[in-house]
Amino acid sequence: MATLSLSNIQKSFGTFQALRDVNLDIRSGEFICLLGGSGCGKTTLLRIIAGLEEMTSGNLLLENSDLSSIECHKRNVGMVFQSLALFPHLNVGDNIAYGLEVRGVAKSKRRQKATDLLEVVGLSGLYERKVSALSGGQRQRVAIARALAIEPKLFLMDEPFSALDAGLREHLQIEVKKLQRKLGVTTIFVTHDQHEAMSIADRIVILNEGRIEQAGTPTEVYARPQTRFVADFMGTNNIFSPIFTPGADAMLEDANLGRPSGELGQWSGKHTVAVRPEYLQLKPASADSTGLVGTVDFVRLLGASIETELSVGDRSFVHTMVSDRAPQFAVGDSVEISFDFDHAWVIPS
Ligand code: ATP
Repeated sequence: MATLSLSNIQKSFGTFQALRDVNLDIRSGEFICLLGGSGCGKTTLLRIIAGLEEMTSGNLLLENSDLSSIECHKRNVGMVFQSLALFPHLNVGDNIAYGLEVRGVAKSKRRQKATDLLEVVGLSGLYERKVSALSGGQRQRVAIARALAIEPKLFLMDEPFSALDAGLREHLQIEVKKLQRKLGVTTIFVTHDQHEAMSIADRIVILNEGRIEQAGTPTEVYARPQTRFVADFMGTNNIFSPIFTPGADAMLEDANLGRPSGELGQWSGKHTVAVRPEYLQLKPASADSTGLVGTVDFVRLLGASIETELSVGDRSFVHTMVSDRAPQFAVGDSVEISFDFDHAWVIPS
């Protein structure tokens, strides 16, 4: 059963529609990432769930009761934002205990809870420290502990790590994921970073221009994108539209792509496919090649792998391979690009 159910949510700011018909059921204990580019409506949706923004229409149910009629501070949600808004005049422990104080919890209990949470977020012993005397990563942990102190039904985070350097960000992503698993709190995390979403989410919800393009596990949205937008957004993909004829080779204009295997062999007409860079194969083009022949535009070493960019007419292709197995091509080389249709994903829409 869904813990949080969003149905037909619309949000307009004047004539601008920021959210269009958003439908989503979130299960108890699930870790959801709202992912999308700037301005797609991620923060607006999170603020509606938090009660900081009113929706124009739609329904928001938490455990089958109407959440939209409950004031923000009574919704029992814990929130962490990019700008942390920790209270500078309070020490670390009192920052964490603040929500409990507002709720009238006795001082000794507050202190115990804050001390326990400091241990959970790896800051034991820093209860009395001023928040101004903490590093950026430590402050984020205090913000997380403060949000969790009220034992929220929903834990909402809006780009909480985007101001931190890459190493610390990755470290905190892992920590927050472990913590969330341990506590089992239903979590919604906003990010524009697909790597971040892939590494922490149980389910990624991809938004585009206020609409959900696809909601699925990281594997589903990476390997089986349902729209061209998702195929483009979820990392590098080679996307092109060959013409299929049952029982014959697939053609991309005059380039012969070979005979599609399995069900694809029965398809006809033009269909858009996505092939990940790691599934392309390259070899030097020969004079009589009838396949997909391109020119190498750029080669770069990415540590463990080598990435080669190629152009075929006005189309671009990207190939990656583990460095020590990659063929060595130079800019300007003429190369034949091939792939196995078993690794081609037909984009449904
Ligand atoms: P970012 O990653 O840049 O924060 P986002 O996906 O979180 O983007 P939102 O902040 O939800 O995007 O904004 C969605 C759209 O709604 C944007 O075009 C934004 O300009 C607009 N918008 C948000 N808040 C308001 C507001 N109070 N008044 C008018 N327009 C707004």
